[in-house]
Amino acid sequence: MKENLNIQFVYPDYNLPATYDEVIESIDHTKIKPQAQSKDADVVVLTDWKQKDVDVQENVAYVLRTSKNELKENLTAINSLLEKVHRLNIVITDVADFQDVDMDDYNAILAELSDCLLEQYKKGRAVQLNLLTDRMMLSEMNNCNAGVNNITLAPNGKFYVCPAYYYEDVANDIGNLENGPNIKNAQLYKLDYAPICRICDAFHCKRCVWQNQQLTLDCNTPSHQQCVMAHLERNASRKLLQRMKESGIRLNGYQEIKEIDYLDPFNIVNKWK
Ligand code: SF4
Ligand code: SF4
Repeated sequence: MKENLNIQFVYPDYNLPATYDEVIESIDHTKIKPQAQSKDADVVVLTDWKQKDVDVQENVAYVLRTSKNELKENLTAINSLLEKVHRLNIVITDVADFQDVDMDDYNAILAELSDCLLEQYKKGRAVQLNLLTDRMMLSEMNNCNAGVNNITLAPNGKFYVCPAYYYEDVANDIGNLENGPNIKNAQLYKLDYAPICRICDAFHCKRCVWQNQQLTLDCNTPSHQQCVMAHLERNASRKLLQRMKESGIRLNGYQEIKEIDYLDPFNIVNKWK
């Protein structure tokens, strides 16, 4: 509270002891809960999203974690979700395995999701899907910002750049409650110190520093996989925006997305020098 931070509690899938609830309720916060414990949640992480009748609540954002193949095989279930929720965040869990031969498949998935969204817009429902609508609303980078705007406090009382660092190895900590956070080379997590990302306009990209560390051994150097997927989404957003305009659908605050001829900013890095 002294640092004026916003606290997001990530809940487990079982009931917390009443004493925990009392402490949590004593401070402003956001609740991120699994579907089984979704009462009073601000954000719900869906676990059984493939079922036809997922019970959704108004004014709650939903998060869906899925592999690319699972996503491809369950587009009908996603379409039913988009008919009910006001915001869905799809988190692809196997970005690291993405290869250039998967591009057509991913484009097809994004095209199908665009069709679903367009249907909803025609019915007057302004549903948001992170993969396709976030970029339309952004005029500058809006990334995860782990290690810069967000840090994680784990159940062991230690701080981490993000939960992934904790789950990978508890020894990745960046300090503890007693002495406060202490991030070595903290500047490396900032956009200003990411030479490729700072010239990129896939503004919705998570710019996942954990994945960078895994795939390029450098938290501020993005992987080809992450860049290509984000650019396919960017380009699909552009196409959707065009189709919306042709159908007379207007979203407040949308931004024009220009046409580009690359999918990985690293390939045109000479242009930016
Ligand atoms: S750094 Fe990556 S894994 Fe960590 S919270 Fe951000 S997007 Fe998620
Ligand atoms: S698409 Fe690549 S270069 Fe652009 S922000 Fe994402 S990770 Fe960085």
